[in-house]
Amino acid sequence: MSRSLTLSRWIRTAPAVAFTIAALATNPVLAAEKKPGAADTMAQKASFGGGQWAYHGDVGPENWGNLSPSYAACGVGQSQSPVDLRNADTARMQAIGFDYRVTPIDLVHNGHTIEAAYKAGSSISIGDDRYDLLQFHFHTPSEHKIGGQAYPMEIHFVHKHQASGRLAVVGVLVAPGDHNLAAQEIWDNLPEKANSMMDKPRVLINGRDLLPGNLDYFRYMGSLTTPPCSEGVSWYVLQSPVQFSAAQIDRIGKLMGYNARPTQPRNHRMVLKAGGM
Ligand SMILES: [Zn+2]
Repeated sequence: MSRSLTLSRWIRTAPAVAFTIAALATNPVLAAEKKPGAADTMAQKASFGGGQWAYHGDVGPENWGNLSPSYAACGVGQSQSPVDLRNADTARMQAIGFDYRVTPIDLVHNGHTIEAAYKAGSSISIGDDRYDLLQFHFHTPSEHKIGGQAYPMEIHFVHKHQASGRLAVVGVLVAPGDHNLAAQEIWDNLPEKANSMMDKPRVLINGRDLLPGNLDYFRYMGSLTTPPCSEGVSWYVLQSPVQFSAAQIDRIGKLMGYNARPTQPRNHRMVLKAGGM
């Protein structure tokens, strides 16, 4: 599978890159040069200044804000994610309604994470707000901490508000324990190398299988945890972890490498702990 095709698929499904695409569409110089095709999209992305980034070294998290003007929020933002979810205020809040349908296996290893693209038609609802599920992906170790404690893995379910386009991410912490049978279909089809994909239209998975039974959550306002670190993201981190075997966590961790941004200052943000639902 060619790198350009992989990248175009990734761009289609990655909300972090959607900002770049939107900016391209309004940039007259780049718009004039715009031609269809994944290679063009890739070249434009590079010329727009969507710099290379990683989790280590000169292009690591401490320097993300300096890599590109479009990544400035990574350095100067005051509402960044992830955070340590300590000292949360308990509140009665609406439950998250999960309406996740089955979707074909469509996994991309984009060099930063392994991501499962979701077909349209799955969503969450919180009160009157409905958010469409775009994709889920993995981090090893977890990005969020609870009382200073990290978990070996975290899954992010990325959603887009139907009316406003705002993003809401559900974070699921993963604890070592029993082998996770529900995830086996995904684990059997993990893309082994960066910039590769696994696309099996006839093999179906359901993100619902990766959620814990108890859906109580922590809620706060934050950002994307990868460049461009855009703020205004609603975070719902579930209080109860799911279990995966150490071997399962180890396998995906080895494929992705370390891909957790350090926790960011809370500043004056509240973290609410939803209970009594
Ligand atoms: Zn993530």
